[in-house]
Order: sequence, then C-alpha cells, then structure tokens
Amino acid sequence: MAAARRPLVAGNWKMNGLRASIAELDKMIEGHDVALRSRVDLLVCPPATLIAAFAERAKGSTVSIGAQDCHPKASGAHTGDLSAEILRDAGASAIIVGHSERRTDHGETDAAVRAKAEAVLRAGLVAIVCVGETRAEREAKQTLAVVSRQLAGSVPEGAKPETVVIAYEPVWAIGTGLTPTPQDVAEVHGTIRGELEKRFGPAADAFRILYGGSVKPDNARELLKTADVDGALVGGASLKAADFLGIAAAYR
Ligand code: PEP
Repeated sequence: MAAARRPLVAGNWKMNGLRASIAELDKMIEGHDVALRSRVDLLVCPPATLIAAFAERAKGSTVSIGAQDCHPKASGAHTGDLSAEILRDAGASAIIVGHSERRTDHGETDAAVRAKAEAVLRAGLVAIVCVGETRAEREAKQTLAVVSRQLAGSVPEGAKPETVVIAYEPVWAIGTGLTPTPQDVAEVHGTIRGELEKRFGPAADAFRILYGGSVKPDNARELLKTADVDGALVGGASLKAADFLGIAAAYR
C-alpha cells in the first residue's frame, strides 16, 4: 500500500441501532486510542435517526459519523428522503452510496448512484461508492467486467482521493460469512486501481479502496494486508465495539 493512503475502517449499521446503541459508540471512541488512531481512521454510519446524536457525542473524538444513502437533490418535494446537505447538517462527514442492498432493494442504477455521489461532493462530504459482483456474475467470470462497468458508471468526474472512497463488496460475501481469497481481492482491487488510473491519472494511486463482505476480527488481518486494500467497509461486525475495534486492530 502506498504510504500516502491512510487506512479507513467504516461501519455500516444498516437498519440496526436504537438511541441506546450510543453506548457502543462510546466504546468505539474510547477504543480508538492513540496507537490505533495514529494508524487508521474510523467511521460509523448508523441509521439516519441516530446521526445527530452520534455526531454530537463523537465531537472532539477521532471517530467520524456518516450516513448510508442520500437523495441526489439538495432539497425539495421528496417525501421521506434526505439530502446530502441535510445529512451534513446532522453531522455526517461521509455518505455511503450504491450499496448493493440499495441497488437491489431500490433498483438503483449506476447513473442513480453517480447522481448521489455527485450530491455528496456538492455538499462537501466524502462519498463511499460501493461496487461488487453477484455470485452468478462471479461464476460466469464476469467479476472484473461488472466492477469496471459499475465504477465507470457510478464514480463522478469530479472524484478526488480526498472526497471519494471506493468500496469493493462482492454481493455474495455480504452477511454470508463467505469471503473471496486474498488473491481474488487483490485482483479486483488492482483492476479498480487501474480503472481509476485510466480516468484520473496518477491521482489514482491516492484513492482509498476498501474491501467489504463478512470482514470479522479473525479474518481482518489477512484481508487488510492484501495489496491495494486500504481498509474495510463492515456490516454486521460493526455493531459491536469489540468486533469493530478488533477489525481495526489489524492495523496495530
Ligand atoms: C456491508 O453490507 O457493507 C457488509 C460488508 O456487510 P457484512 O460485513 O455484514 O458482510
């Protein structure tokens, strides 16, 4: 990994967490001690209802708070939706876009994901853009083509290493306990880096590319030391501070 890329371990709480879950955030803040924070950034993306309280609690700490989705528009008649600007106002510093569950549950296309990522940049926040193949696509040996196509369609022109993070999340690895081999992860991350280079030139070297899909404390070290892996996007294991910190500890 290039020295300039600072690892990021991001937690996607999905539709989990109540106000009482702030106790887990407190433990994460405490556990992100001097040694750990010198090596890895931590981001927690709770449900939108908790962002303001979590951001307030995390103020002055080294743990950042993010959101899981946004609407592409800044404001307007979009009942039930939240814009990047509203999420920023609540205290989010980053927003996940294009998670496979959004792509599947809400039919989000690459173009829709790109519009959301552009909205995140417009609001001055960091966009975590997710890509990843299904099991059928992997079995059909389409992984690299699918990921390259999603990347081309979802990452905005104005992407910069400071404002866009890519998360490679094979759909079949999410929440299943299955993970690709480190060799497979290295191949996809290398392809992503190559695609970024075609579009953004030498700046591609500074983009962070996270791996996501069943990362746990016991497999984190192997996955996170893989070439071109600059951190993790973690679902289930991000809900408990002990597990989340156990994953980040791979960087100790
Ligand atoms: C995710 O949904 O982003 C994810 C990586 O989930 P899990 O860690 O539970 O597989």
